Amino acid sequence: MARTLLTAAAIAASLLLPVAAQAQPADLVVTNAKIATLDAAGTMAQAIAVRDGRVVAVGSAAQMGAFTSPTTRTVDAGGRTVIPGLIDSHMHAVRAALSYSTEVNWIGAGTIAEAMARIRTAAANARPGGWLIVAGGWTEQQFAERRRPTMAELQEAAPNNPVYVQLFYEAVVMTPKALEALGVAPGTLPAGMKPTPDGAPGWMSGDIVGISALFDKLPKPTYDDNLAGTRAFFTELNRLGITGLVDPGGFSIAPSQYAALFELWREKALTLRVAYSVFAQKPGAELQEFRDLTQMLPMGFGDDMLKFNGLGERVTLAMYNNNFPDEAAKAKFYELIKWAAQRKLAVTIHWQENGSVDHLLGLYEKLNAEVPIKDLRWSIAHLDDASPQTLARMKALGIGWTMQDAMYFQGDRALAMRGEAARRMPPIGTALRSGVNVGAGTDAHRVASYNPFVALQWMLDGKTVSGKAMRGPDETPTREQALRLYTAGSAWFSFDEARRGTLEVGKLADFAVLDQDFFSVPLARIGKTTSLMTVVGGRVVYAAKPFGAASGPAP
Ligand SMILES: [Zn+2]
Repeated sequence: MARTLLTAAAIAASLLLPVAAQAQPADLVVTNAKIATLDAAGTMAQAIAVRDGRVVAVGSAAQMGAFTSPTTRTVDAGGRTVIPGLIDSHMHAVRAALSYSTEVNWIGAGTIAEAMARIRTAAANARPGGWLIVAGGWTEQQFAERRRPTMAELQEAAPNNPVYVQLFYEAVVMTPKALEALGVAPGTLPAGMKPTPDGAPGWMSGDIVGISALFDKLPKPTYDDNLAGTRAFFTELNRLGITGLVDPGGFSIAPSQYAALFELWREKALTLRVAYSVFAQKPGAELQEFRDLTQMLPMGFGDDMLKFNGLGERVTLAMYNNNFPDEAAKAKFYELIKWAAQRKLAVTIHWQENGSVDHLLGLYEKLNAEVPIKDLRWSIAHLDDASPQTLARMKALGIGWTMQDAMYFQGDRALAMRGEAARRMPPIGTALRSGVNVGAGTDAHRVASYNPFVALQWMLDGKTVSGKAMRGPDETPTREQALRLYTAGSAWFSFDEARRGTLEVGKLADFAVLDQDFFSVPLARIGKTTSLMTVVGGRVVYAAKPFGAASGPAP
């Protein structure tokens, strides 16, 4: 029956669309390209035409004639590869954006010298005595020296500024000026922090709660910084071919801090599509908090640029990162998810360990028997060691898996701790074979780089940032599969795979013209890929040479 309907719809589309299209020329035509449409057949096309933000034709150069008029902007892609815009299915991007214009970034720095050079540049550009904050997104494994910078190096690079550097949610180093500015007495540590085991001067250890509390004491960027940071960060993501995000909220960002994002949406200045969820902030009162926040916010509310996508990734504090939830925590969680299911809200949850995931899946199975959740697109984030049984249970519940490149940074440690078992982390191949919906992404920017091409290379070569081969061939996708996970795969998590993620007639025109051919470039170079022209809804949101200034934005 479904097949008959689809066929009828396809026939209707093929009859109607060319007629409608001929009546009106395209706004933008890109020709002489190698377009990976990622349609079901994996069609490669030469040219694509866009009108009113949507794809009106994709095919050969000759077929574009009917869509071209003197008002059509035509771009010769010079034989380059075009892919559907990339979508990160789990990036704390709204939060990262708030401080992007005021933080120092070590993403991609290959040596401590390079990291210190970035501190020096930031110090030169900072207000006198202004804070320099590295909020994560790096690991010692990325540096040739294979170690953390010392406090002496930081002081040398920025003698006149307070410096705060965070390593994941594990450790922090603060210079004496920074400790003094926070009023920490000499010889003591900020609340919630412990000395590091190696006793390195200035370094201290903490967990996600302690470090988040410390981070919250740092001076906040102003609202203008938030706006500038959001514009700049989204443009940076466009430079890497990203056109969409599923954002799971996060620590250290309150509902009031979404104002900059909302302002840019209102001004029609967003350069990528955001689906955002609400992250529990009030321990013990999460259900009331979610009720209050969503009374006027139905699931899916918004438009194609910005929409509300449910709850998570922290649903209740008691079930967050807790491998041993007690019965009271589970009962409270059940009450909340039942309410969410009745409201048809999507729920995404952070869960790390397969060993404890039965606590969660057991509750979801019980709920599904009472209030079906199969079509609500619930998801689990992380779960790098998901077993085939876990993936099968998720598939049966209609629960998707957002998979991130955590093992790129953390893989050396996982290999040391788990040995051979680490070779299936994360189990991308098993997940694909199980039929569970998988989205790709990074979890940036505190614990990972936001660069999707670094993540794509890692999906394909399974190597950690230090170059160690980790994931085995059984768990390695093909290039096309990896790309599908980063496009339509991720789009599923905001109910958008029928609207975007592939380049087909009628879909939103989101794509990137790449500087090198993703499909044939040596594997080791995929991580260096950038976009030369990124298009969101037919609008050029990013352009570099040769598509830069000379081309200008599309009409
Ligand atoms: Zn998480």
